[in-house]
Parts: sequence; structure tokens; C-alpha cells
Amino acid sequence: RRAIYARLRDLPAVTRDDTRIALYMNAGLLLDLQHLHECGADGIGLYRTELPFMARSALPNVDAQTLLYRKILDQAEGKRVVFRTLDVGGDKVLPYWNPSEEDNPALGWRSIRITLDRPAVMRQQLRALLRAAGGRELSVMFPMVAEVAELVQARRILDIEIARETAAGTPLPERIRVGTMLEVPALAFQLDALLPLVDFVSIGSNDLTQFLFAIDRGNPRIAERYDPLAPGMVRFMHMVSEKCRAHGVDLSVCGEMAARPLEAMTLIGVGIRTLSVTAPAIGPIKTMVRSLDVASLESYLFTLLDSRDHSLRSRLRGFAIDHGV
Ligand code: PEP
Ligand code: MG
Repeated sequence: RRAIYARLRDLPAVTRDDTRIALYMNAGLLLDLQHLHECGADGIGLYRTELPFMARSALPNVDAQTLLYRKILDQAEGKRVVFRTLDVGGDKVLPYWNPSEEDNPALGWRSIRITLDRPAVMRQQLRALLRAAGGRELSVMFPMVAEVAELVQARRILDIEIARETAAGTPLPERIRVGTMLEVPALAFQLDALLPLVDFVSIGSNDLTQFLFAIDRGNPRIAERYDPLAPGMVRFMHMVSEKCRAHGVDLSVCGEMAARPLEAMTLIGVGIRTLSVTAPAIGPIKTMVRSLDVASLESYLFTLLDSRDHSLRSRLRGFAIDHGV
């Protein structure tokens, strides 16, 4: 199997009817970069920056962060890296930060809520990213955005840092792409206001499923009910995909869902053309893509959108088997 995937590495992720799918990798450690070139991913679609923050005994300063982000970009050798700003809180606790106990940590003071309330942390991270990407492309993405106003606020902080670096004569990135995660359902109802402000959107299907169905992503008792192939979720993805296409904004999915072939197939069926998955999933997902006929999947999926079933899983599996996917 390893040999098959190694041979696959240099083949393009193109469907039988010629649709190119961009396959990116998720990462969170400098060590992960070595897999980027081995697995043949197009780049890093989600770099979780919180891991080094969690492994230290204090907040890393601007210089330490700059050094790290520069190494990441160097090792990516020109492939795109999407840096997600600090996404702590909830289940990811910093040892040196002691927030008070919360009844509902998943719904609490986490992620962009923290960095907007502590803008110095956000500013330092953005400053480090701007410096690290001097002369090349910077893609920066904000997590857990629930409303456009938060994105506007984050963007304003980025603009302050850009102005600061410009005044200091520091070389800026040659291009800055700003994006948001879509993992809080409310944001999807503001897409017409949001999309003109961003270059890309990435769906975090782990949190999105949790919030869309009000179902804890880590509770085994209800794991059977947590199904990203539920018709409500697939419809949601379809709606977001149509909106992004209409606005010409790049859309990807970077949650675990994208790393499973049947789920990834479904995402392609609703119009999503960029997936970001763990390195070991690149081979299996590419194999699925290369055996897929998007046109027949699209017309089949269209008939399922109004299904009254709990999940579309068995029908989609049937399609995959029938069509040799
Ligand atoms: C997600 O929620 O799907 C996601 C990619 O972010 P994380 O798993 O880091 O919360
Ligand atoms: Mg998330």
C-alpha cells in the first residue's frame, strides 16, 4: 500500500471527468513539514499555531514566533501555508494561563474571543507572521469567528500591524491573503456581508458538526448521532459552497471529515474543490478523487438533499460501490 501511495504522490488529484481537486495537508509542528514533500500535498491548508504555545512555560515572544514561522515557510519551499491564529481555550488549555472554570468550555472564552480580548497576543502573533513572510506570500486565518464584526475587528488589528511594520521599514509579504474559519453556524447567515472581506474560507467541520447539531464532538455516548453526512450538514455545505463560488472566494474544508474518502467524495459532490487533511490521508483521498466522476455524483447527490433519513451515508456508500469509487 505504501508503495502504491508513493507512486501516487506525483500524480495529479484530478477526477475522471477532469476536475482538479487541491489537496492540502494539516500540520501543527515543524516536524510535520517533512511529510509535506513526502505526501505530495499542494501545501498546508491548516497550520495550527497553538501547539508551540502549549508546549512552553510562557507565551513565546515575537522573535521566537518569527523564527518558527520563518522556518515553516522555508521548509514549505514555496508551497502555500495557511497559518491559523491562536485557537486555545475549550479543550486546548495553556499551562501558564489560568482562565476560570467554565460550565461550557466549548462555548466559552476560547479562540478568537480570547485574542480579541487580549489584542496584544494577537498583535504579536500577526507581527511575527508578517516578518516571517517578508517578500513572500502570507495566508492568515482566524478561528471560531461567529460574526462578521469579529472578522472586521481582527482585520483591523492586522492593518495596524501592517502600518507599524511599514513605518519601521520592515519588508512586508508580497501578498497577504486573509481568511476565516467557518465553524460557527451563525457566520453562514452573514456570507453576503463576509465574503467581500476575505480571500478564503475554510470550514472546520469538527466544531461545525458539534455546533450545527448541538452535539459534543468528544462524547462517545452520542458519537453515533454525530454524523457529518446527515442531510442537514450536507445541505449546509452545499449552501456555503454556492455562496463562495458566486463571490469568487476560495473555499476549503479542513476538519477530520475531509480526510475520510466517503465524506471527501460528498464534499466534492456539493462543489468543494479544496480539502486539507492529515498527511497519511492524502494518498487514500487522491485515490478516491482519481476514480470519481463528479458529474454523476452531483446529479445523484442532488436527489438526496431533501432526504428524511438520519444520514446519507449508506446511500453514498452505495453510489461509491456502484461507480467503482
Ligand atoms: C475544526 O473544528 O474542524 C478544526 C479544523 O479545528 P480544530 O479541530 O483545531 O478545532
Ligand atoms: Mg475548530
